[in-house]
Amino acid sequence: MELIILGCGSSLGSPWISNYWGNCDKKNKFNRRTRCSAFIKKGNLSILIDSSPDIKEQFIKNKINNLDCVLYTHEHSDQTSGIFELRPFFWKNKKKINIYADSRTLKALKKKYDFCFYGGQGYIPIMKPNLIKKKHKIIKGKNNVIFDTFKVEHGKITSTAYIFNKTAYLSDCSNIKTSDFNKLKNLNYLIIDCLKFKRHPGHLNLETSLKISYYLKPKKTILTNLHTELDYNFLKKNLPKNILPAYDGMRLKI
Ligand SMILES: [Zn+2]
Repeated sequence: MELIILGCGSSLGSPWISNYWGNCDKKNKFNRRTRCSAFIKKGNLSILIDSSPDIKEQFIKNKINNLDCVLYTHEHSDQTSGIFELRPFFWKNKKKINIYADSRTLKALKKKYDFCFYGGQGYIPIMKPNLIKKKHKIIKGKNNVIFDTFKVEHGKITSTAYIFNKTAYLSDCSNIKTSDFNKLKNLNYLIIDCLKFKRHPGHLNLETSLKISYYLKPKKTILTNLHTELDYNFLKKNLPKNILPAYDGMRLKI
């Protein structure tokens, strides 16, 4: 089973559209970050977490040519706005693409991207909305992946955290309830929001992400949702060996 971090940038990526690189060294290819999405592959089962605005380039760059379903963390544009790019997988598989999310996110997706779920103007619906369960099994033939899900704070809303094969994916998170910390014990990989140095109401900052990592002691921590404030080499040089900055296209055997 493999996980690919398709994108590890914050909402505007790095650089921004205005060519602003912040502290990031533009000569280092690991500083070119697209928006957060991740891809899970187990045999012929292909699962996407979030459809970023960069999803098309992310699929092409990583030579991904199939998709069975999408799990959404929340409805913000940097996690969802690539949704309409997924149409070729409806044509390829000749069945609706299953979309899994909590009720608030499904409601927002159905409103914003109504054509995907209801069709219209001569187009047919291409997606099926499904409520994500606390324990969720996705099956295709002989392959399956079991997800444990729970809510984390993401500013004024919540975001769904996904745990699968001793790997936790919390790309957008400002706080984790103390009662949920036990769900994150004994992980091989903790992939966690780490926006910038400064505190931010919607995201964890470097100091807090590190504190969580030291407390949970996963085998490896991967920092994602990285802002232009955080240069790849700076993080790589200054962090302990088991805490790594993500980069676009990072592959983990999980
Ligand atoms: Zn968000």
